[in-house]
Amino acid sequence: MKPEDICVHRLDDLAQVAGDRRPSIEFRLHAQVLRIRRDCRASIHTHQPVASAYTLLGRALEIHHPYHQIILGQKAAFVGYAPSGTNWLASKLRKAFRPEINAYLMRNHGALCLWSHAGRDSGQSRSSGVCLRHLFSRCNQTIGQSLTASRFCPK
Ligand SMILES: [Zn+2]
Repeated sequence: MKPEDICVHRLDDLAQVAGDRRPSIEFRLHAQVLRIRRDCRASIHTHQPVASAYTLLGRALEIHHPYHQIILGQKAAFVGYAPSGTNWLASKLRKAFRPEINAYLMRNHGALCLWSHAGRDSGQSRSSGVCLRHLFSRCNQTIGQSLTASRFCPK
């Protein structure tokens, strides 16, 4: 994704106010998120393969490191599957929302993270990126532990 791919929409009526490209199919999902969580300045959604694989376990992911807990929350919530760009997916995400949780793992659909500290400060952006890498690393680690513990992969 490049800067020229970015579309800007007004939050209250979703009118496109900047950018010439067609918006992401999930732009309504981002708008819903930012309307509900007025404390958040950014919503980031990725189709990260490890996060999607983790969701096959069907559970939230505990975040253990205190630094990452400040940014992400004590866990990344699990959101059940619904097709991209649908009200059904938006509804499932809305039901999973908690004010203290900033990371959501959507079944077969990657992750959505909220940044309540997002801004122009590069230090804040960098810490958000570090936390996102930590989230995916925790997904990968937990998948490995689950496979090792399963009867399909005996020690
Ligand atoms: Zn998506």
